[in-house]
Amino acid sequence: MADDTITAIATSAGRGGIGIVKISGERAIPIASAIFQPADHRRAAEVRRETEQNDLSWMVSHRLYLGHIVDRQNDRIVDEVLLSLMRAPASYTREDVVEINTHGGPLAMQSILKLVIAQGARLAEPGEFTRRAFLNGRIDLTRAEAVADLINARSERALCAAAAQLDGQLQRKIKAVRQAVIDLLTQLEAGIDFPEAADELPDPATLVQAVRTRIIEPVRQLIRYYDEAHILRDGLQVAVVGKPNVGKSSLLNQMVQQNRAIVTDIPGTTRDVVTESLNLGGIPVTISDTAGVQSSRNPVEMIGIQKTMEQIERCDLVLFLVEAHLPLGEADVSLFGRIKHRPHLVIYNKMDLTNGKPSGGSVPEDMIQSPHLEISALSGEGIDDLKARILELTAGEASVDLNPVVIPNLRHKKLLDAAVLAAEALYNDLQNNAAPELLAVHAGEILRLSEEILGIAVKADILEQVFERFCIGK
Ligand code: GDP
Repeated sequence: MADDTITAIATSAGRGGIGIVKISGERAIPIASAIFQPADHRRAAEVRRETEQNDLSWMVSHRLYLGHIVDRQNDRIVDEVLLSLMRAPASYTREDVVEINTHGGPLAMQSILKLVIAQGARLAEPGEFTRRAFLNGRIDLTRAEAVADLINARSERALCAAAAQLDGQLQRKIKAVRQAVIDLLTQLEAGIDFPEAADELPDPATLVQAVRTRIIEPVRQLIRYYDEAHILRDGLQVAVVGKPNVGKSSLLNQMVQQNRAIVTDIPGTTRDVVTESLNLGGIPVTISDTAGVQSSRNPVEMIGIQKTMEQIERCDLVLFLVEAHLPLGEADVSLFGRIKHRPHLVIYNKMDLTNGKPSGGSVPEDMIQSPHLEISALSGEGIDDLKARILELTAGEASVDLNPVVIPNLRHKKLLDAAVLAAEALYNDLQNNAAPELLAVHAGEILRLSEEILGIAVKADILEQVFERFCIGK
């Protein structure tokens, strides 16, 4: 257990109905005792007489008490609050935890936080409460990660998947694989240690079958869940690309129906990358309106162009915009050359200025073959079609309907990939009657990988990466 006591404002910054200051650690209750004056004066006075100090140890765990936070040094009341103690180990962190429900003004919360720190607590780092829950063995690493996923969920499905993971559904699947490996290792080790008892070992066919059904298949299924559904959680990155003035900002505005990107008729206005989030059919989508790409000597525009190129490489889908009422220009064709290796959709914009057909010009063959769509970012015509096409092209219909209970994240997926490789090697060597020592090496590797997913004996830098995604106070 950590020997210092941490504190943080657990609710989001700004004004709210209530705000919560959280304290966790050995000194949580003494610190609360020093700053909390219960409204139940009689009981408090009795305790003060008996103990000659302001002690909250008479309070029942997991019950709310009304009272005041008092600054005893300046003899003033800071706020009327509801305070609860959650005694170790029945708490979020498995340490003593105190939660102070304040009136949610930033000043009240800050004042209380200061008093708590003055009493010896330290400001918590991002995710430190959850980190303690993990380090103290209350949750495994997959469940700790689910807490961040729940907080960061941008769609209902992402929320569902995070809740299932927090409930331990991924943990249970990985634990089952780990158990299968442990069973196998026990048998292999018996073979290594007592070669004379080799006859009593299960026959190789049984072991091969166990490796396939208890290790390879479940791990492959989890990888499939990641491939098909991680977009539900991680969302889709879409970049809107086109030469200046084709209507990129207008399109972004139409899609989010608000006016965040600046729209002007002077080419080259969108110099920076403007991003907006929207929810398409349950999938969180981030759309970036990139800088117009044309050769430029203006340093600001050059930075914008550089950012556009990075955006093109990073995104899941490029929306490539051209003006439908004008023949395709050299700039369009050269820009198309830069995006065509990425998943893309060609969009003929400004259809309201045509007689119902894009003007064309000399359209390169690969652009004719690309999926395309006609819209007017000004009138909004074709935008619903576009939204549907984005989903179709990136997620695929099967994935959109898919509702797996758990969606591994990228960290899990990399470890699962490695586990499948080791399991396949194990499978082949078992079939070829390889020496138990060699089989044990493969099994040991799968064991290590499954334990890394669960966070058993995991390295500090991996924990750093997991917990840096958290906010302070969680
Ligand atoms: P960007 O430089 O590519 O971001 O282009 P903007 O979105 O700033 O648009 C440039 C100009 O084209 C503005 O005057 C828009 O009103 C206009 N525009 C954009 N889309 C359409 C459209 O579908 N039809 C028409 N008629 N004008 C459009």
